[in-house]
Amino acid sequence: MTVRTRFAPSPTGYLHVGGARTALFSWLYARKHGGTFVLRIEDTDLERSTPESVNAILEGMSWLNLDYDEGPFYQTQRFDRYKEVIDRLMAEGKAYPCYCSRERLDALREEQMAKKIKPRYDGHCRALKEPPGADAPYVIRFKTPVDGAVVMDDLIRGRIAFDNNELDDLIIQRTDGSPTYNFTVVVDDIDMGITHVIRGDDHVNNTPRQIHIYQALGAAVPTFAHVPMILGPDGARLSKRHGAVSVLQYRDDGFLPEALINYLARLGWSHGDQEIFSVDELVQLFDVDAVNKAAASFDNEKLAWLNQHYIKEATPEHLARLLSHHMGELGIDPTEGPDLVAVAKVQQERAKTLKEMAEISAFFYRDFDDYDETAAKKNLRPVALEPLQKAREALAVLPAWEGEAIHRCVADVAEALELKMGKVAQPLRVAVVGRAASPGIDDTLYLVGREATLRRIDRAIAFIEARAEQG
Ligand code: GLU
Repeated sequence: MTVRTRFAPSPTGYLHVGGARTALFSWLYARKHGGTFVLRIEDTDLERSTPESVNAILEGMSWLNLDYDEGPFYQTQRFDRYKEVIDRLMAEGKAYPCYCSRERLDALREEQMAKKIKPRYDGHCRALKEPPGADAPYVIRFKTPVDGAVVMDDLIRGRIAFDNNELDDLIIQRTDGSPTYNFTVVVDDIDMGITHVIRGDDHVNNTPRQIHIYQALGAAVPTFAHVPMILGPDGARLSKRHGAVSVLQYRDDGFLPEALINYLARLGWSHGDQEIFSVDELVQLFDVDAVNKAAASFDNEKLAWLNQHYIKEATPEHLARLLSHHMGELGIDPTEGPDLVAVAKVQQERAKTLKEMAEISAFFYRDFDDYDETAAKKNLRPVALEPLQKAREALAVLPAWEGEAIHRCVADVAEALELKMGKVAQPLRVAVVGRAASPGIDDTLYLVGREATLRRIDRAIAFIEARAEQG
């Protein structure tokens, strides 16, 4: 059997980490078994589905590198097919029109509640011979078996059994003719040949209803794996109030996709005490049936730790590709300035996130607005005037603008003034960077470039003189 899995998000919001984790598990399962991964957009809820949300899902998948082999398929483009299957169920006597009014259903529900029985449709229209009127509005219900039970062996949760008498006759087509989720999902999973349905466990209770529809259509029932939800650190379902939950928000906050992937895979799954997994390793080692049944708690600190690990380990080329997005967010076009790969290389050990890396790298591309107050107080004082002037003179005539020569030049100025290297390098750094921290002075000046270096030294000299005048 060729494994076929799918991710089937409803585009009613951003791609959140819970959805991404489910997508990841489906993707890994397909990749591990040499199967096919399908993306299907479940956009039949016309009021809540938005194109922005579709884009956010596609962008999130692409950022995480969860590539799909087929799709995206859109349910809204499959209405004819759903209609065809409903007609077939009707023709085979497996579905029926129900004309019950809202009033009747409300009264039924109240009566059942008063008798303390679970509210459910009573099958009133199952036996109806004639419609109550030619134009009477109706829904179509699926005839759920009245007796017996459905049993499924969930890959994560184990065996689950549901009594059929707990289930009522499900509406598969609304009054306006549109099909409902529990029906479309089955038609799609059959048509798309899905062998393993891996999804959030908020759908567990839908599964027995769906299994009946598979059976009524004479189709093989896929294997199910219901993935537990993610909780916030306080034990409540993960939501916005716990901080970022959207995948793209993690991207914008400066996380690496491989850090989030590693984190999401390890959330509720383990392999000995190994913490770091490359995607290839996950494809080999990850098993959805070894995922914990219990909900997992999201731990931002651990994700931050993984992120820093991946930043340190990444190749500068890879970092630069991702960093480019963050430079763009700051309004910087990194092609107009020093090579971003070289910048990523000197900043790699200095930032916890790519966002931070972009922020501390902006000075390579544009003049900063203000000096850091403390750094200026400490380093841009009258005693720094001479070292800055001498360094400026020497740097202006340096034959080759490259790291080693810059370093030697600064060291020579310090020696000539009988100062420690830091007494020249630190005022220079604040002059050029605006802050007291940056990579080595040689890398810093080299990447900033001669012209900007000299311009910023002039600005620092003027700044010191102006301050001195003010007393
Ligand atoms: N569209 C459903 C959701 O976003 C998922 C359906 C499924 O995976 O079966 O919750």
